[in-house]
Amino acid sequence: TLQAPPEAHEALRCLFGFPGFRGVQEQVVARVLAGGSTLAIMPTGAGKSLTYQLPATLLPGTCVVISPLIALMHDQLRSAAANGIAAATLTSVDADWRETINRFRAGELDLLYVAPERASQPQFRELLEAGRVALFAVDEAHCVSEWGHDFRPDYRLLRPLMDAFAAVPRLALTATADHRTRADIVQQLGIPAEGMIVAGFDRPNIRYAARHRDSAVRQIAALMAEQPGPGIVYAPTRKKVEDLAQKLAQTTGRKVLPYHAGLDPAVRADNQARFVASEDMVIVATIAFGMGIDKPDVRFVAHAGVPKSIEAYYQETGRAGRDGDPATALMLWAAEDFARARHRLGEVDPARREGERQRIEAMAALIESGTCRRAILLRHFGEDPPATCGNCDNCLDAPALTDATELARKLLSA
Ligand code: ADP
Ligand code: MG
Repeated sequence: TLQAPPEAHEALRCLFGFPGFRGVQEQVVARVLAGGSTLAIMPTGAGKSLTYQLPATLLPGTCVVISPLIALMHDQLRSAAANGIAAATLTSVDADWRETINRFRAGELDLLYVAPERASQPQFRELLEAGRVALFAVDEAHCVSEWGHDFRPDYRLLRPLMDAFAAVPRLALTATADHRTRADIVQQLGIPAEGMIVAGFDRPNIRYAARHRDSAVRQIAALMAEQPGPGIVYAPTRKKVEDLAQKLAQTTGRKVLPYHAGLDPAVRADNQARFVASEDMVIVATIAFGMGIDKPDVRFVAHAGVPKSIEAYYQETGRAGRDGDPATALMLWAAEDFARARHRLGEVDPARREGERQRIEAMAALIESGTCRRAILLRHFGEDPPATCGNCDNCLDAPALTDATELARKLLSA
């Protein structure tokens, strides 16, 4: 594996304040500094931003970052500023375009963040030609693929832009892992196949389990009795969130609060803040909850409904046990979850339906399996797993055989 040069280690300590690289970060940084185009596949929270921010401070010129969300860009801007890195955005809400453009031309910017719509405009190419580009970083790179879960046509226009700067290396970043999407990203963005770097996806302290849902309230209350620490319960609808939060509070006597997009924004923000600060609270939420939350001591994540893909399941359960202490991921499934999935399938664009169907079937296979669940997850993300992990329900107990795959097949084909 590649090692980053000493100045990269020094920047890591002095500018970013971290004692060392995490996981594949060093490999990615080393490859980028050596001028190699790269696709980095790293789970959420693994530290993808650093892999372009650090090279941006060392390479002559500006790193152009394509990022799909203005809110994310402004978060990044704040943290870059805190580290003394020269960064700017060109978005509709920025008033200081003239100044940003002048700073870029003068070579004063380490990082320039833009949305894909902006990046694909001819004026933007002209701007870049008037300065020096050190690196193109494409965040959330799965958006370039129709196989991905969040296709954005503007991402397709990044390739012609980058091709106009053929000598500038490209770094694409994503947490999405299915193989077809990966292959599509490298092809669409013009990255050599050997430039793909995949992080370790294993979370050995998380104990995975899946059970048929008899009574979500009773089953989650039982889990709460074992796990007195903070927990997240995901429910599929706002109504179920409200209902479950109320019943769990009643049954367990613990502090349980709801979180969903239908709540008054002030209440929602308050519930989230209270959860983050708490050592024993449980939050019942739709999948709207969790983006950008950094709470290391979440002791369990329970699903009161089947997530829409293995990626979503991995990302949601991945919010448990970030401190490395034991944590539990419990998925409660029922036939109605697959009926709901089938209903959703009917609503998606026909071109994407097959991909969606495969994602649901992969979830059903994970649920149905009597073999190591961690092995299934890791294989999904392209890693070679140990034969058994000793820390999932199937490795610990006699497998509870279910007919979820059969069920999914029937329901999906009906
Ligand atoms: P991602 O984009 O992969 O989800 P981020 O880039 O947002 O992750 O980083 C997640 C968190 O990890 C941030 O709080 C960041 O400061 C922290 N982080 C990144 N690299 C390191 C490191 N080498 N050591 C410690 N913390 C790190
Ligand atoms: Mg990120």
